[in-house]
Amino acid sequence: MQDCSPRAIVEADLDAIAHNLHVARQAAPDCHIIAVVKANAYGHGLEQVVRRLEAEHPAFFGVANAMEARQVQATDCKTRPFLLGPNPPAERAEIAASGWGFTISSLEEADHFASLAADGQRVLSVHLAVDTGMGREGFLPSELGDALAHLKGLPTLHVEGVMSHMPVADEDERFSCAQINLFEQCVREIALHARLRYVHLAASAGLLGYKIPYANTVRPGLMLYGISPIPCTWENQLRPALRLRAAVTLVRSLPTGHGVSYGRCFVTPRPLRVATIGIGYADGWRRHLSGKQAYAIIRNTPCPLLGRVTMDQIMADVSASPGVQAGDMAELIGPSLSVKQLATQVGTIPWDILTGLGPRLPRLSCSLG
Ligand SMILES: *Cc1c(COP(=O)(O)O)cnc(C)c1O
Repeated sequence: MQDCSPRAIVEADLDAIAHNLHVARQAAPDCHIIAVVKANAYGHGLEQVVRRLEAEHPAFFGVANAMEARQVQATDCKTRPFLLGPNPPAERAEIAASGWGFTISSLEEADHFASLAADGQRVLSVHLAVDTGMGREGFLPSELGDALAHLKGLPTLHVEGVMSHMPVADEDERFSCAQINLFEQCVREIALHARLRYVHLAASAGLLGYKIPYANTVRPGLMLYGISPIPCTWENQLRPALRLRAAVTLVRSLPTGHGVSYGRCFVTPRPLRVATIGIGYADGWRRHLSGKQAYAIIRNTPCPLLGRVTMDQIMADVSASPGVQAGDMAELIGPSLSVKQLATQVGTIPWDILTGLGPRLPRLSCSLG
């Protein structure tokens, strides 16, 4: 444990995340869920999120690499990790030995996993990835015939699933509908050769925005954490799940004309009470928020942040909240300070804000009510 209280902390509302998983279940009825917990569960703390979601019986926990798969496994949960992307040769032996779910996109991966399976005298379940437009992994639809013929010669691989991924589920309906149809044809072709247990295409945006009747599995990430990537009817049922707070370390009065932070981009227009807060861009509080009308809530009062974000500290104008003192906690992300709005201010996307929250921040749980 911490031997001194941390300057800044992330708290996750685990029940809210479980609630959001139920919303995913409602939006995609009767589907298996690959609960995506990569990147430290989008900053919410992988271990505590896995422990809570295990009770909701997802089909898999979606992860990005073997290290994250190990973190899932270390919680002693029964649900298997599923590696969402292609795996470099050095990670494959561990994957084959561990029984984790994974995809193959090439004959090279198929041959390598087949020989690892043979070495271990086991049959490995694999998900065939099909590239229907993402350009990141998968067999092209035109390559499927050859791939399926090749797989017939690899008895140590068992195709239990087929997956693809949508590049524009949040912005191009025409392309996405065509992609849904194309993937259906691919699934039909593969189903002639394999008994498919899992058919999946949709991440959060695809799941919330489209009906994909032939798919029986979905891969929600962002929506589990309470953020909808698209405007949709489910949006206001999602509960925000993250609070970011940092300690006020110092409060001082500055005279008129005093610069605040590097570059002196902000100069006090009148005497101000200025609080120093113990968080900075090294924690994932993005430097691009400098001068962007961002706020911290301290003692229920929104306090404008002043000047540039520094590596470990930021400053806020607390003139409107006279009781503020060192030791108070300043809220920077929470139910009324949304990740989406921060992302817009920074010029990025909510995924980037959440996964940018740094390792220096301890992950705790909370109830956001
Ligand atoms: C990260 C990822 C997801 C989750 O995406 P969200 O948009 O966060 O829901 C789903 N599928 C794959 C293949 C991914 O890499």
